[in-house]
Amino acid sequence: MLPVHAHNQHEFNFEASRGDAFYKFFFKTGLSGGLLNELMAADGLAKRLNNIYPGDKFKISLDDNHNLKKIIYKPVSANPMIITSSKEGFRFLIVNVQPTAGITHSTVVITKSLNYDAKKAGIEAEVIKLMVDNFSWELDFNRDLSKGDKFILAWNGADKPIAMIYVGKRKTIPLFSHEGTKGKTNYYQINGKTLNDSFFFAPLKYDRISSSFQKRRFHPIQKTWKSHRGTDFAAPQGRPVYATAKGIIKHVAVLSGYGNVVYINHGPHLTTVYAHMSRFEKGLRSGHRVSKGQVIGYVGSTGMSTGPHLHYEIRLDGVHKDPEKYNTLKQLTVPQGSMTEFVRHAKEVLAELNI
Ligand SMILES: [Zn+2]
Repeated sequence: MLPVHAHNQHEFNFEASRGDAFYKFFFKTGLSGGLLNELMAADGLAKRLNNIYPGDKFKISLDDNHNLKKIIYKPVSANPMIITSSKEGFRFLIVNVQPTAGITHSTVVITKSLNYDAKKAGIEAEVIKLMVDNFSWELDFNRDLSKGDKFILAWNGADKPIAMIYVGKRKTIPLFSHEGTKGKTNYYQINGKTLNDSFFFAPLKYDRISSSFQKRRFHPIQKTWKSHRGTDFAAPQGRPVYATAKGIIKHVAVLSGYGNVVYINHGPHLTTVYAHMSRFEKGLRSGHRVSKGQVIGYVGSTGMSTGPHLHYEIRLDGVHKDPEKYNTLKQLTVPQGSMTEFVRHAKEVLAELNI
């Protein structure tokens, strides 16, 4: 068993001696009898807590508001049980830890930046790149990381980690490796989906494509030959424009050419651009996370534009791609036939890491 590596005032560790009872540990954390009653009534599995034995271990975690978050029960002679508590109630889970007994882990604690702290923790550049490629779909590394956030990497002897888990103040993002049929390993959330998104073809319900991506065209306003490095979607003034995939807002700007324009980063390489909008969605700010289909603004004709339309761009590492032809990244899914095994394994890794 790995050592418990997360110590703080919200975690209580107990080991049962002769004559101990679970409720004694429960009350030592300051939690109420009312909550204990709710817990014991929530699931038939709670009965296991009535018959504990010397050597059985308990870890009770509370959140910052002193609400119950999680109980990990590790009996001496049976499989561990994890109870999580949330607004939706209690969830009981029994895990089999035997098959993952060989795993090790490294922890990167953020003091400056992922790159700096991962290097300091001895993580290979290749693995740091894996972390950036995956987590940047959910995390803005410049804004979202705080001191003390952790990245935990679990290993079973291979070059690539079997799990990469971000543990932050506000959220935890666990990713697990799975080898696809073509032998390529990807990282998936416990729901079997990669963290990256698939893209919609267009960021609005459009009437027609009024101008395609062209290397050179005669610009109707500037009266010169210019390249058109995006797709123009004709649509009436005021029609909602949405993000074509989940991402993080990079800029919300008013520019002379693009007019009211929004830039969205999707992972480490892709950026989409939405120009000439009449107005932005209220409250939209750089650094905000947006989901696929979330409205970011409304069709207009601001900037250098001859009439209401949405100018849309896709850029890969800064290079403009033709939105009508470019095959954007797809969200991958663990095949249905492998899902049960994948989820079982993922839960074992989490239990082994005490997450
Ligand atoms: Zn255009």
